Amino acid sequence: MAVTTRFAPSPTGHLHLGHVASALHGWRHAAESGGTFLLRVEDIDTVRCRTEFITDMYTDLAWLGLSWPQPVRRQSRHMPDYHRVLDSLRARGLLYPCFCTRRDIAEAASAPHHAPDGTLVYPGTCRQMDPVRRADMLAAGVPHALRLDMGAAMKLPGAQDLTWHELGHGPRACHPQQFGDVVLSRKDVPASYHLCVTHDDALQGVTLVTRGEDLLAATSLHRLLQHVMGWPAPCYSHHPLLCDDTGRRLAKRDGALSIRAMRAAGMTPRQVCAAAGQPDHISAVSTAACSH
Ligand code: GLU
Repeated sequence: MAVTTRFAPSPTGHLHLGHVASALHGWRHAAESGGTFLLRVEDIDTVRCRTEFITDMYTDLAWLGLSWPQPVRRQSRHMPDYHRVLDSLRARGLLYPCFCTRRDIAEAASAPHHAPDGTLVYPGTCRQMDPVRRADMLAAGVPHALRLDMGAAMKLPGAQDLTWHELGHGPRACHPQQFGDVVLSRKDVPASYHLCVTHDDALQGVTLVTRGEDLLAATSLHRLLQHVMGWPAPCYSHHPLLCDDTGRRLAKRDGALSIRAMRAAGMTPRQVCAAAGQPDHISAVSTAACSH
């Protein structure tokens, strides 16, 4: 069956070998099924994301032999879409403002525990806030995040029984409660990764989400958001992360492993793809049936 996959990097640095592995993973699934490979720019964090990284990303991916339909969705240009989702959640009592600082959260948690992504699970302070005080703080323009009321979301019909389909593994049970009341709109950015990624996958008709296994646990949360919003459930294929010789996960800080550094050092696209563990990529590209 023809699948629609996507590669959705955040332009906070130059693409490196880990990105190549991820992009090729999505590309391969699309090509093998005669489907579509999308590129999406996840740039809501306007402080950390830079335009030059986006331009360079296009150049690097094209040099590797990839192509994708236009226009590319840049999340920062679609903030009203995300606001509409927040409005809908708010109207259903599934969202509340949180005025806490990181320090407040750390101090309020008597027995702090962490979500699978390493963030501190929110102890729920502002969920119980007196409504008059809350209204006063909002009226006074006190900066705040918006959090999902996980308890309320989990009471919706069907929320307890959610699963997602992981390619090659079958159904996996969801445990979104592990994340607690997640932030869906940040203090500094009026949206969040979890919100935008699920919204866009639905909007763009992504049927197979291809990404690194660092996001495996977050899929529970994404599946819950899809359920709450009535969006379709895509399949997922999480790939292993590339590590360096010391077993450390490749990151943007390892500049020597950026695609442009490898190109400058004289490597060919085929060699870069091989270094990312996908030596067959070039033949897949030349015979690709990716429809645009
Ligand atoms: N934008 C995310 C990142 O660069 C990837 C999001 C996803 O694939 O779901 O880590």
